[in-house]
Amino acid sequence: MSLSPSRSCSLDRRSSRGGALPHARYGVDLAKVPNTYVEPLTAYRAWNWTAEGVTSLNGKLWTPQAVFEATCSRAADLRSMQAACSTDAARKFWQRQSHPVPNPSCTCGMYAGINMQHMIEIGYLGRGIHGEVHLWGRLHRHTLGWRAQYAYPKFFVVPTNMIPVRADEAQRRLASLVEFDVDIYLQPEGEARLGQKSIPLWIRDYGYSQQGVSFLIEKWKKWDSTKITHTLVVGDRIAVFSDVSGGGIGIVKEISGDDVYYTLFSTDVVYRKRGKDVNWNERNWRWETTGLGYMRKREQAMGRTR
Ligand SMILES: [Zn+2]
Repeated sequence: MSLSPSRSCSLDRRSSRGGALPHARYGVDLAKVPNTYVEPLTAYRAWNWTAEGVTSLNGKLWTPQAVFEATCSRAADLRSMQAACSTDAARKFWQRQSHPVPNPSCTCGMYAGINMQHMIEIGYLGRGIHGEVHLWGRLHRHTLGWRAQYAYPKFFVVPTNMIPVRADEAQRRLASLVEFDVDIYLQPEGEARLGQKSIPLWIRDYGYSQQGVSFLIEKWKKWDSTKITHTLVVGDRIAVFSDVSGGGIGIVKEISGDDVYYTLFSTDVVYRKRGKDVNWNERNWRWETTGLGYMRKREQAMGRTR
């Protein structure tokens, strides 16, 4: 279906009243949110946390103490098209296609959800560390939240099953989070849940908390890192490398014999891989696999709204 201008205008009007988008249900009044935000607005999102640092789920690096500025992946293409033009009219055509980020008709911008509850409902948390994020600059209202021009983390929540079992490796990795100079909390449960217990680990203007450090030391005592064998379990994350879609972070939903079933982009679609093709990467501290595997539709609907 292609949208005529009048149709997209009516969609715009509906969404600005909060009727078509779920924001109102989560206590966000869209009428009070301008398109360009000077004061930061907070939203919710997840990040990858690897040996390289903190990245968006698409792999884009977030730099400590630096504003994350979203860029448009089409911008470079458009510039080269413009440069290659032989006529003014053609050059102007390509000029008109370039746009500030985010643009309503493009996919560019930094994505963040309305709040934690909404991100849990759409099955998005659990793909890494998560937390609140400040958004400002140009803002585009999205069905699932926002696409923003600028962002910076407000706090991080780290599931403790993502903390390396070797204390020296864990300290090195945690130091990369501390550099952001925002509060860090531990999440003892594997899955994110509203109202669950969290333990302060590092608090701004205070440093490491005794409670958080004691919790980790107890955990390390139980782990004898010389005898650790990594066993894939339900709820584990898998970094999936694929040429088809660029891959992503999958979540293990079921293990049956030699087969591993995981979801990737949508909770409705399950992929199957052989267990021997999912390997532990000691350096990246995560499970990794190449190729999506076999796809099947999930039989029962997950309790979830869209
Ligand atoms: Zn764009």
